[in-house]
Amino acid sequence: MALFQTVETPNLKYEQPVGLYINGEWVKGVEGKTFETINPHNEKPIVAVHEATEKDVDIAVAAARKALETTWKKVTPSDRGRMLTRLADLFERDIDILASIESLDNGKAFSMAKIDIVNAAGCLRYYGGWADKIHGQTIDTDDDSLNYTRHEPVGVCGQIIPWNFPLLMWSWKIGPAIATGNTVVLKLAEQTPLSGLYAAKLAHEAGFPPGVINIISGFGKVAGAAIASHMDIDKVAFTGSTLVGRSILQAAAKSNLKKVTLELGGKSPNIVFNDADIDNAISWVNFGIYFNHGQCCCAGSRILVQEGIYDEFLKRFKERTLANKVGDPFGKDTFQGPQVSQLQFDRIMGYIEEGKKAGATVVTGGERLGDTGYYIKPTIFADVKEDMKIVQEEIFGPVCVIQKFKTEEEAIKIGNSTTYGLASAVHTSNLNTAIRVSNALKAGTVWVNNYNLIHYQTPFGGYKESGLGRELGSYALENYTQIKTVRIWLGDALFA
Ligand code: ADP
Repeated sequence: MALFQTVETPNLKYEQPVGLYINGEWVKGVEGKTFETINPHNEKPIVAVHEATEKDVDIAVAAARKALETTWKKVTPSDRGRMLTRLADLFERDIDILASIESLDNGKAFSMAKIDIVNAAGCLRYYGGWADKIHGQTIDTDDDSLNYTRHEPVGVCGQIIPWNFPLLMWSWKIGPAIATGNTVVLKLAEQTPLSGLYAAKLAHEAGFPPGVINIISGFGKVAGAAIASHMDIDKVAFTGSTLVGRSILQAAAKSNLKKVTLELGGKSPNIVFNDADIDNAISWVNFGIYFNHGQCCCAGSRILVQEGIYDEFLKRFKERTLANKVGDPFGKDTFQGPQVSQLQFDRIMGYIEEGKKAGATVVTGGERLGDTGYYIKPTIFADVKEDMKIVQEEIFGPVCVIQKFKTEEEAIKIGNSTTYGLASAVHTSNLNTAIRVSNALKAGTVWVNNYNLIHYQTPFGGYKESGLGRELGSYALENYTQIKTVRIWLGDALFA
C-alpha cells in the first residue's frame, strides 16, 4: 500500500499521509500491517493506514534517542521555539484541511473542529515562546560554594493520545515536550489517525531534525503497550481512560520506572445555585455536557441544581437540549455529530439502558438518532440515586444526570462523591458562594459561571483517580524537565 492517498471530504480534496513518520521519513510498518479508519457519519471506511507494532516502536525510539544525543541537543532553545512557532503558523495555514480531516475521521462538527485547530496552534505557539525561558536557579549556601540547577530534558518521551480531540491532544503533548528539548514518539488513537499524520507532515515542513518528532498509528494493546513498557523511553504521557491509565503506570513500574503523567476520566459536577443567572447557567450547562458529543474527559455530566429553581431549570434545560442541532458534522449549524465509533456508541447505549432499568426518568433522548451513523440523541436522566452506575461512572457521551440539592454543604458533598476529580463548575451570582464552593471541590479545575473554558496558558489535570500531573501552562514544563544540582566548591580542600 502506498504511503500517501488522496482523500476527499465534503469540503475539499487533499493528500493524506498514511505511513508511519519515523526519523523524518514516511515508512511502512515492519510487519506490513494496515488498518482502516471509519467515518462515524456513514460507518464506511475512509482510508487504510500503516500499523506500527512493537518493532516499529523500537525503531522510532532508537531514532528519537539518536536525535536527542546528536542533532537536537545542538539546536539552541531559541531555534526550538522558532520551529514550534513555525509549526503553529502551518496549522493556521492549513486550518481548513486539518478541521475537515477532524470532522471526517472523528465526527466532530466542522465549526467546532476549527476551534480545536485554533487552540492547537495557540498551544504550539505558546510553548514555542517558553523554549528559551527554561532555566534553573543559582542558590547561595555559603561563601565557598557556587550552586546552580539546570532544567534538563527528561529524554525520549512516549506519548499516547486519545481520539476525542486528536490535534488538540497532539499539540498539548508535542508543545511542552519539544520546548524543553526532549524528543518524542507519539502514538495516535487507532480510531482517528488521520489528522495527526497530516500534522506530522507539517512538523516535517517546519524543519525539525529527523528523529525529534516521530508519529505512529497503531493499537493500544500493541504499540501503546510497547511504549509503556519500553526500556529506553524515559517518560510516558498518556491521555485516555482510567483503566488504561492504571495499566500504563503498572507497565512503567515493571519496566524502567519511566516518569508518568496521566490525564484520565471524569464525572464532573456542574452546580447551579438558586441565585445563578439562569439563562447563562443553562447555556453553559448545555455546552458543558454536549460539547464534542459528551466525549470530553471533563464533561459536566452531573448537573446539580438547587431546589428553588430545579423545576424551571429542568424544563428550560430540556428545551435547550432539544434545540441542539444533531447531524452531519459538515452540515450547516451542526452542534453535535456522531459518536466516534461503534464501540463507543454501544457503550453509551448500554449506559442508557442501564439507567432506564435502574429506574431513572428519561427527560429527553434515551435513544439513537436515525439508523446510519453513530448518532445518539442528547439525553437527560432525572430522579436518579447516588449509587446508580449512570451517576458514578463516566459515560463519555451526550448523556447527563440531573440532581436536586438543598444546601451548599449538600452540593459539595454530592460534588465530591465520585472517585474522579478532573473538573467542576459553580454557577452563582454570590462571590462568597463561588469562592467557598471552589475551594471545597476536589477537582483540578473549577469553572465559575462558565464551563469547558480550557486555555493553554492555564493548567489542566486531575485530583483523585482523574490523573497524575498537570498539562498546559508553565506547570506542564515540569513534567518534561529534570532538575540537576551542580555544587562547585571554591574553598580549601576539606581534609587537607
Ligand atoms: P477509549 O476507551 O476512550 O478509547 P483508551 O484509554 O482505550 O480510551 O485509549 C486512549 C489511548 O490509549 C489510545 O491511543 C489507545 O490506543 C491507547 N491504549 C489503549 N490501550 C492501551 C494499553 N493497554 N497500553 C497503552 N496504550 C493503550
